[in-house]
Amino acid sequence: MSRVIGIDLGTTNSCVAVLENGQPTVIPNAGGYKTTPSMFAITPDGKRLVGHLAKRQAITNSKHTIFASKRLIGRRFDAPEVQRSIDLCPYDIVRGPNDDPRIEIGGKAFTCPEIGATILREMKRVAEEYLGEPVQEAVITVPAYFNDTQRQSTKDAGKIAGLDVLRIVNEPTAAAIAYGFNKQSEERIAVFDLGGGTFDISILEMSDGVIEVLATAGDTFLGGEDFDRRIVQYLLDQFQQQESIDLRGDAMALQRLKDAAEKAKCDLSGREQVEVNLPFIASDPDGPRHLSIQLDRQTLESLVSEVVNATLKTAEQCVRDSGLEAGDVEQVILVGGQTRMPLVQQAVADFFGKRAHKGVNPDEVVAVGAAIQAESLTSEEDSVLLLDVTPLSLGIATFGGHFAQLIERNTTVPVRKGHIFTTTRENQSAVKIRVLQGESDVAAENDLLGEFVLTGIRPANKGEPEIDVSFDIDANGIVSVSARDLATGKEQSITVNATGTLSDEEIQQIIEDQELYEVALKEGVE
Ligand code: ADP
Ligand code: MG
Repeated sequence: MSRVIGIDLGTTNSCVAVLENGQPTVIPNAGGYKTTPSMFAITPDGKRLVGHLAKRQAITNSKHTIFASKRLIGRRFDAPEVQRSIDLCPYDIVRGPNDDPRIEIGGKAFTCPEIGATILREMKRVAEEYLGEPVQEAVITVPAYFNDTQRQSTKDAGKIAGLDVLRIVNEPTAAAIAYGFNKQSEERIAVFDLGGGTFDISILEMSDGVIEVLATAGDTFLGGEDFDRRIVQYLLDQFQQQESIDLRGDAMALQRLKDAAEKAKCDLSGREQVEVNLPFIASDPDGPRHLSIQLDRQTLESLVSEVVNATLKTAEQCVRDSGLEAGDVEQVILVGGQTRMPLVQQAVADFFGKRAHKGVNPDEVVAVGAAIQAESLTSEEDSVLLLDVTPLSLGIATFGGHFAQLIERNTTVPVRKGHIFTTTRENQSAVKIRVLQGESDVAAENDLLGEFVLTGIRPANKGEPEIDVSFDIDANGIVSVSARDLATGKEQSITVNATGTLSDEEIQQIIEDQELYEVALKEGVE
């Protein structure tokens, strides 16, 4: 039987793990690194690069190097997050035929699942090389706060990468699985996950082989990159003051600044002061200009305090939803590279009234949990019972643009809930149902997952037909809908046409195109 891997498909970095003789192993890539940058690039001569190779050439090829595409996946082009990315990213984001954002590099517009697939395929390859055998099945993690469309799109990415996605698991839940592995204790824990692009927090109760998520909350547009951006702004302002040169319009300089800002930020986690040095960053009639700016930890902390406070606001909401007090949490697990920053650690310690647990690696724990979950899904032995929750309320749009909630956020999944619909006109034969996910009472402010028309209602007086529409959220957090006419008992199965996602035909087409491309690549090499 072939092995099942666990993949943490991160916004910034991805990681793959497998269980070997009952013990989790994080698999290093060819360069010996245990995490791989989630980056994809096409070079001027048409070569496709993934991971470290893509990252290494990002400065000189920024327009054709994709990073942080996870911030776009499963969103609609008009979503504010996409519009913000358009302002922030050096690569071109264009509107796709499904109103989805696509990224244009090397003369081709890639869908977000396709880009995710290039990373997943790389992680699959890393695992295959290590295991010495093909890998078919995987568990992939997503931020707990991902909505249905984002989860669907991640599953599509797996499919395009040639993977059978056994389960989509929430990242903080995966971290909890890894923490609780081979432990007997009964504990309430909080997982605080601050990565490069997203923030997630979950509060869980662990006891005797059961992991129950009590509440989860997060922000899919908050992470280390927000820290970097504030540092870049500071460096731009300082340089402008010193040299009267504004670097804001210079793509190459901005890319170098971004790199230097991130590096300074990471260094300041271990030191009190760093010097940011960027020789030949600009030139004017007097000759080349060099950037050299001192940055100390205190300045960094004042630049980013707002971002850190934003994570605490979300943490507060999560604690409230869990029905506990912050002090009831017995262990705090830090996940994600950005939690290495002392200010973040201090803020979390102050919030929960205790220092975080030191025993897990914040970069690897999510992949490890995914691998443990992968193994338990395929083995016959008694394994951990996982009770996760849906992060967002599910409902429908009703008359007047209101949102009628059917399944409340933080409800344990899988869950199924029915709702009886009827007609408002005489002999009405069809009703239109708009499925939404979100927390606003106003329908338009929530995410439209899809809509469908229920047809074949037998002629009757208005208000008479009884149609039981049931809304399901499965263990992956993915939503489906079915309907039954109570009078006839006739079932209508309904596909929600998710907005912004790929159809099966489109996915198939991508897979075929990709095979063509791979063949072409091989022929080119030989
Ligand atoms: P993701 O889950 O988005 O893939 P990661 O968990 O890999 O992200 O975290 C990446 C983020 O962590 C980046 O913004 C990076 O700059 C930041 N980071 C990594 N190491 C450190 C450090 N030592 N101090 C502060 N931030 C760090
Ligand atoms: Mg992560």
